[in-house]
Amino acid sequence: MTTLVIAEHDNKELKGATLNTVAAASQMGGDVHVLVLGSGASAVADAAKGIAGVSKVLLADAPHLGDQLAENAAAQVVAIAKDYSHIVFPATASGKNVAPRVAALLDSAQISDIIAVDSPDTFQRPIYAGNAIATVQSADPVKVITVRTTGFDAAAATGGSAAVENVEAVADSGKSSFVGREVAKSDRPELAGAKIVVSGGRGMGSAENFKILDPLADKLGAALGASRAAVDAGYAPNDWQVGQTGKIVAPQLYVAIGISGAIQHLAGMKDSKVIVAINKDEEAPIFGVADYGLVGDLFTVVPDLVKAL
Ligand code: FAD
Repeated sequence: MTTLVIAEHDNKELKGATLNTVAAASQMGGDVHVLVLGSGASAVADAAKGIAGVSKVLLADAPHLGDQLAENAAAQVVAIAKDYSHIVFPATASGKNVAPRVAALLDSAQISDIIAVDSPDTFQRPIYAGNAIATVQSADPVKVITVRTTGFDAAAATGGSAAVENVEAVADSGKSSFVGREVAKSDRPELAGAKIVVSGGRGMGSAENFKILDPLADKLGAALGASRAAVDAGYAPNDWQVGQTGKIVAPQLYVAIGISGAIQHLAGMKDSKVIVAINKDEEAPIFGVADYGLVGDLFTVVPDLVKAL
């Protein structure tokens, strides 16, 4: 039994989601290999070989693998799939793009978004926006799985000493081509992996008002997040959305400001270690999950908090 983890990276750096995925893979029994598919990605393979618990790193390096086009990435994974009992992706945008193609090509029923490994063939995954946990068992010879990274503590990034092996790159499928990428630039930590997240909701009132969260996030070294209502109203960018249809986060500290605590928002943040809620309505459901609640007007509370910090 050997598990293949598909690395998340940008050809230069290995992303943290890979470490959580390796941690999940380590619980499936057997060896853990990591596949780095990319272009000029040898630094990523070097980083991957240091991950604790990884026994081999496979590097498929070719220009047409550099932009992580799903058709090429899936073909690359399928080309080496026969050697594996489990093929495991982080449940990130790119993992969720490639995994279903791999599952379809292998005629395997994908198991999505697992949060626990009960045994090599049995896994737990949240359903109904996290209101119930399904235990699922797979009889497929090759199990294709995506991992909710917040469900597993990251494997240590150092301490391992895996060998790196080059694998032959598959041919370019020609089915899609890379046109361009617009990446939002920010000095703040990445939302999905941040230790502290400050999120604003509809209560912020406007995009201009949302900026009062900046000094708080600066003081705390936090990433900024938002509810869907705030995003839909144009107060915050789309990629800040936390929740069922946004990002799932589980930071050490989550500060929800002017957010009511709708079930779809809670689905994205309720596993945070400490939750602080600031809301003027003491009946707001967010207080039901908060460790610390402050009933008050955010426009006075937030500046006071910044001053106190
Ligand atoms: P509201 O519910 O309007 O709450 C605003 C809060 O701000 C209130 O509690 C109010 O008391 C407080 N407030 C107002 N003024 C102040 C002030 N001056 N000081 C302090 N507090 C103040 N939502 C998500 O967030 N993420 C998702 O991924 C998501 N996915 C969804 C998927 C589906 C299929 C559906 C149907 C809905 C989804 N939603 C999602 C929407 C969700 O149902 C809620 O509508 C949304 O979360 C509400 O956002 P909010 O809490 O910012 O706004």
